[in-house]
Amino acid sequence: MVITLKSGTTEKGIKHVVEKIKELGFTPHISHGEERVIIGVIGENAIRSREIFEAMFIVDSVMPISRPYKLVSREFKGKATIVKVKDVQVGGNEVVVIAGPCAVESREQLLEIAREVKEAGAKILRGGAFKPRTSPYSFQGLGEEGLKYLAEVSEVTELPVVTEAMDSRQVELVTKYADMVQVGARNMQNFDLLKEVGRSRKPVLLKRGMASTLKEFLMSAEYILSSGNYNVILCERGIRTFEDATRFTLDLSTLSLIKELSHLPVIADPSHATGKRSLVASMANAAIAAGSDGLMIEVHSRPEEALSDGFQSLTPPDFHKLMRRIRSIAKALGRRV
Ligand code: PEP
Ligand code: MN
Repeated sequence: MVITLKSGTTEKGIKHVVEKIKELGFTPHISHGEERVIIGVIGENAIRSREIFEAMFIVDSVMPISRPYKLVSREFKGKATIVKVKDVQVGGNEVVVIAGPCAVESREQLLEIAREVKEAGAKILRGGAFKPRTSPYSFQGLGEEGLKYLAEVSEVTELPVVTEAMDSRQVELVTKYADMVQVGARNMQNFDLLKEVGRSRKPVLLKRGMASTLKEFLMSAEYILSSGNYNVILCERGIRTFEDATRFTLDLSTLSLIKELSHLPVIADPSHATGKRSLVASMANAAIAAGSDGLMIEVHSRPEEALSDGFQSLTPPDFHKLMRRIRSIAKALGRRV
């Protein structure tokens, strides 16, 4: 349930409510709004204690949260959350583009691509150091060496970086080098990993599992928030459907629905969703029109030589073209890129 305190409630008053919540065996989650403080009370059957809080004179209202996901819901927080990745704000008026290679292959490869995507207007650099590959014989990523290249290139280009942690044991290492940790589609329900990135305070990019419902997706985000990390960006990256002409199916209506149900920012990844270079730009356009707060796009200087996902990677000139196009779409919608 959500407890809304009366405006002007003092720190002492907040503490009093928080202590009562803990005494009853529940977990308080405090959100400081512009005018009022809202406290989420998380725990099974918390609503049964409703009257205890309603009787407090500093409490304005006590409302149940009807959805199974609580902290990520709009019922808990009506105002959109802006997640800061270094100085880049995701979830506000700006449409933020994350771009870079599928995998970090070498320092030179990463630097060359980073410079190109930055020039085109990308605000965050991506690149996998630990790669979740379908085949164990495919390139698995450079590991820590790749993380070091990401940190170096980030320093040179001043682009914050995002990269994937595939296992809870990798989180500490990844957060040492990266500005945002990615939880990949195949790990969306790796609950130990979700709890671990939840304990870290670095922003998290949570990708939707390819066979997950929206509810399951938001419940995974709930794991991260309930572990104490509110800096979560959701990513619609395509789901499995009967259609096999594309790699996955970009679920745009769900992307729009997320904006209704949750206050968290949501971005789209048309590269993995389509698996086809020629479709990336049109699905990027569509995602922005559907209300996406950003995009994740794979770019490679020589896609034919890429060690992973070359067939869906854009060349730098194609990426420049995509950026020009989405700029005009964003403008038409009153947003900017
Ligand atoms: C990626 O972004 O590098 C990736 C592997 O994507 P996904 O987890 O969505 O397949
Ligand atoms: Mn990829």
